[in-house]
Amino acid sequence: MFPVEKIRKDFPILQRQVNGKPLVYFDNAATSQTPQQVMDAIVDYYSNYNANIHRGVHSLSQEATDKYEEARLKIQKHFNARASHEIIMTAGTTHGINLVASGFTTLLKKGDEVIVSALEHHSNIVPWQMLCERSGAELKVIPMNDEGELILSAYDALLSDNTKLVFVNHISNALGTINPIESMIKKAHAVGAAVLVDGAQACPHIKADVQALDVDFYVVSAHKMCGPTGVGILYGKEEWLNKLPPYQGGGEMIAEVSFEKTTYAGLPHKFEAGTPNICGGIAFGAAIDYMNQIGFEKIDAYEQELLEYGTKKLLEIEGLKIYGTSEHKTSVISFNLDGIHPYDVGTLLDKMGVAVRTGHHCAQPIMDYFKIPGTIRASFAFYNTKQEIDVLVEGVKKAQMMLS
Ligand code: PLP
Repeated sequence: MFPVEKIRKDFPILQRQVNGKPLVYFDNAATSQTPQQVMDAIVDYYSNYNANIHRGVHSLSQEATDKYEEARLKIQKHFNARASHEIIMTAGTTHGINLVASGFTTLLKKGDEVIVSALEHHSNIVPWQMLCERSGAELKVIPMNDEGELILSAYDALLSDNTKLVFVNHISNALGTINPIESMIKKAHAVGAAVLVDGAQACPHIKADVQALDVDFYVVSAHKMCGPTGVGILYGKEEWLNKLPPYQGGGEMIAEVSFEKTTYAGLPHKFEAGTPNICGGIAFGAAIDYMNQIGFEKIDAYEQELLEYGTKKLLEIEGLKIYGTSEHKTSVISFNLDGIHPYDVGTLLDKMGVAVRTGHHCAQPIMDYFKIPGTIRASFAFYNTKQEIDVLVEGVKKAQMMLS
């Protein structure tokens, strides 16, 4: 039995009421909740060793540096990177993607092609469009089908010697589809293209092994996996990180500066200009410890149970349609009620204490595909329960009655 009641005690926010009702938090795909253990790490940092890192000889600075670098090692181990300097600390997924997109500007030329999937979050579309504008490369899109899966035969047809980069998310935030990234990476490598995988939605569910995947770049945000906002990582293969120029100039990222010539620091500092989110990085390490103590296999099995239960219960409601029906899915249910705008349902659910996300989920091309303005998205985490799903289902039924 998954110890969900014990786990829930680690999350103080789950005890609160919203609009006079116990909070049912089903907006985990947007941001996850924070356990006490991670909050304790934040308080410990500011209470005991708040100092700037890497450049102080005093004890506090050294302690902060040690803890920050310890966090990097934890992250390296978690994602099984070959070396800790392949882990670049960032402000999150969006930052990591922009860093790589910016770096490729001088590596691409007219006639080159970059491939993106139809299932992407805007943050894995717009930076590549901007890169194509700067470099003259052409953006190609892998189409999707009605189940919310990528059409892999179309991907095969798009790949050619002109393909230089492929971008795909590990899991779609809008639909929950798990993409077959392992085979997609192999195929891209066969034509000599590099692959960036957006792991923002996978990191709370799957422990990605970047060496086994042989992926070139993998990006995540800490706030999707029980850590704080504004921090994340870019994993990059050393050979690629050495090829890319620095993203931002400033302190920390240099070896020597003079007005005649500046030389850059080695990895990972070359990409870490300025004072980083020190506390956030340390708390990210604490979040990884917390989730690993529970165990990703157990988390995934329990969330699949919630997904199955939620799907079955919601589909019992007449006029409810689920978008994203792949067999390879994580615990995200995107749905609509016939003839009712998703915002209206979301607003009524909020009155009942149920937090869901409504809208296009930063994935407008997916909404365009289904010809809808948006969906109601309930995304479950390992601290949610079947009883909470029952509250959602009753809430949706009530909203349907009130709005039809
Ligand atoms: N990519 C995916 C698939 C996401 O779900 C998100 C956030 O919702 C992002 C990228 C952007 O993450 P962040 O806002 O933390 O940079």
